[in-house]
Amino acid sequence: MNTQSIIVPRISTVPVHEPKARAILRWLVRKEIIQEALTTCGRTGNRMAYGIGPGARSVVLKPELLPYEDSVNGLEVVTDRCIFTPDVGFLHEAGCAECRREVGEALFDSLEDWMPGYTDNFTCPECGHEDDINGFLFLQPCAFSNLGFIFNNWQAAGLQQTFVDEFADWLDQPVANVSVLLRDS
Ligand SMILES: [Zn+2]
Repeated sequence: MNTQSIIVPRISTVPVHEPKARAILRWLVRKEIIQEALTTCGRTGNRMAYGIGPGARSVVLKPELLPYEDSVNGLEVVTDRCIFTPDVGFLHEAGCAECRREVGEALFDSLEDWMPGYTDNFTCPECGHEDDINGFLFLQPCAFSNLGFIFNNWQAAGLQQTFVDEFADWLDQPVANVSVLLRDS
C-alpha cells in the first residue's frame, strides 16, 4: 500500500506561504534530503516532485525503509488550500478544546464552507467556542491549510520528531505530521 507523510502547519492561512515554501525547499536541498530538480517521482497531477536525496537517511527513524527503489519517492509541495486527513481508517472524530465534547460530524460538515475560503474558523455547536479549525482536537493527526509537504512513501521509515519540529521553526507555527494510507493502491 502506498503511504504519505504530510507535514502541515496547524493554521488555515499561512501568511506569505509561497516564499516560506521556497525557503524550506532550499533548506531541504542544501541538506540533500531532496533533489533540487523536479522529476516524475510524485503521485498527484503531473507527478512532478522533488526526488529523495541521500540526506533523507539522517532525518528518519528507519533509513533502511526509505523508498529509494520506489518510482514514487518524492516530495510534493501543496500551496493551495487543502484538507489533509489519513484517508483509509479515518474516523472523522474531533473534540472541542473548550467544552471537550465530540464535534466531529459538524466540524467535518463545515469543511464545505472552509474549503472555498468563506471562513478559517469553526464554531463549536455545543458551547459556541470559535477558533481556527486547526485549534480543535483531533485523535488522528490531521490539518487544514494552504500549505503542505507530502513525502511520498516515507511513512514506513518514520520522520524523526526533530525533523518535524524544524518545519515548525521555519513556519513559526505548530505542525501536524499526517499519516496517510492511500486507498487506491
Ligand atoms: Zn465546545
